[in-house]
Amino acid sequence: MIGVDQLIESYRSKLAVDAYGLAKALDLEVVESELEPNISGVIEPSGSSFRITLNKEDHKFRKRFTLAHELGHWLYHSHLIGAGVGDNRLYYSSDTERFYNTSIRRRHENQANAFAAWLLIPDGLLEKDLCSFRGKPDWSYLSNRYQISKAALKIKARHLGRRMSSQ
Ligand SMILES: [Zn+2]
Repeated sequence: MIGVDQLIESYRSKLAVDAYGLAKALDLEVVESELEPNISGVIEPSGSSFRITLNKEDHKFRKRFTLAHELGHWLYHSHLIGAGVGDNRLYYSSDTERFYNTSIRRRHENQANAFAAWLLIPDGLLEKDLCSFRGKPDWSYLSNRYQISKAALKIKARHLGRRMSSQ
């Protein structure tokens, strides 16, 4: 049987990364629903697995990031999910009412965000893309190619730049 890591890598090698297909392959249910406007997503137990709910009003790029963030909670903190974890617009569990989960701390959110960026913006691919633009990236093109916000791409590009220049 193929392991979770291998499965994730196989999805991660093809743009735009199919986060929905990956969730399905991991036996997680993904639904879109009317959530409070300040809530981006929720992960909660459902049957023998978990269900991820995305705010249907969100832009599709944001939904993808939220989905990847919730996948991060599932991968790293499934033992802390309890009755569920809600994520507000800034991807913190505070002010998400019944989905406010006090076990999920800032470091867990950071880990889920790092996973989401790692999953949706594979370093090697972005490095190649940035090189091909010779210092003048077309962020609209890249945003479409990765199906993610320009803001998220720029953050990742800055991290990559720092790493590349420190090598
Ligand atoms: Zn979160």
